[in-house]
Amino acid sequence: MSIDYQSLAVRGVQALSPYQPGKPIDELARELGLDPADIIKLASNENPLGPSEKALAAAREALSELCMYPDGNGFNLKSALARRFDVDMAQITLGNGSNDLLEIIARCFVDSDSEVVFSQYAFAVYPIVTQAIGAKGVSVPAKDWGHDLDAMAEAVTDRTRLIFIANPNNPTGTVHGQEAIESFLDRIPANIIVVLDEAYCEFFEGEDTPDGLKLLSRYPNLIVCRTFSKAWGLAALRVGYSFSSPEIADVLNRVRQPFNVDSIALAAATAVLGDEDYLRRSREVNAAGLKQLERAFEELGLDYIPSVGNFIAVDVGGQAMAVYQSLLEQGVIVRPVAGYGMPRHLRVSIGLPDENETFIKALAKALEAVGQGD
Ligand SMILES: *Cc1c(COP(=O)(O)O)cnc(C)c1O
Repeated sequence: MSIDYQSLAVRGVQALSPYQPGKPIDELARELGLDPADIIKLASNENPLGPSEKALAAAREALSELCMYPDGNGFNLKSALARRFDVDMAQITLGNGSNDLLEIIARCFVDSDSEVVFSQYAFAVYPIVTQAIGAKGVSVPAKDWGHDLDAMAEAVTDRTRLIFIANPNNPTGTVHGQEAIESFLDRIPANIIVVLDEAYCEFFEGEDTPDGLKLLSRYPNLIVCRTFSKAWGLAALRVGYSFSSPEIADVLNRVRQPFNVDSIALAAATAVLGDEDYLRRSREVNAAGLKQLERAFEELGLDYIPSVGNFIAVDVGGQAMAVYQSLLEQGVIVRPVAGYGMPRHLRVSIGLPDENETFIKALAKALEAVGQGD
């Protein structure tokens, strides 16, 4: 008797399609017979500076303890975070990347009768963690590519348990200022958990820079998620963290796997928090790269979505997949976002100046090759 094992998966999981990551450099090198050194990856919002020297040194030192389990409470990292952000250690939860936290939060507060609200064009992980539980995802149409916060507040029903807000948002790079977030939170009943996903907050230093941390004391239903993957340059190590009330952190801690962040990751993340110079350079390289790409898009006559992240979504016309393919053939990996409902756009992560330049030249060639028609 043969069993259809796929049909044994729970309903939510059966209907799931996995997260599509950016294409790895080695994979493209194998496919095209290229030298990996000749390939540029601007596809996963990684930090183009390479890792911080301080983080590297701490990681190397941690290698000598590979036979030991990590500190399951992450004491050193939590105390460094508590000091830097002036919060209590009991408010911090560590995750294996902030993706881990997003999933833990959903598993703690959502069941199959619940609704979870997020925005159209928002981070793909929100619908995935929602659907895995078998809950109903409510995707609220975006406004000017960003979250329509009024519409999201109106989408709340008595079944809503959780709301995800990416601020700044990926893949659109849009952001809401502090006041807009506050008036949104004012409209949300206190028994609904709101996640402010601030994965890119370090890159955005405007007058109205939003900061979820400042809102925690007023909104006990708030969880602020951040990561070491982007501005801090430790994507490979998978470290994220959340700030919440100690009560919520206690709930998250029940579902969290006891050793979800490994010792090397803990050591490197703790060390990088002391590397202000690295963070400053990350911001500078990013701000300059954003300008460089915006200028190039304008010269090429391409619309783009103004971004405050370390990436930018550009409208390359009706043949975005052909443009993407042509870029791949030229050794440049960017990210198609058709899966986000943005079939005309490609998302490009900000690279070093010469990487951006290589991408711009390759893009011009690609557009010519596909005949820039709509
Ligand atoms: C990159 C990203 C994250 C962070 O993912 P990690 O798991 O911490 O690497 C979280 N949220 C958004 C919106 C992101 O783009």
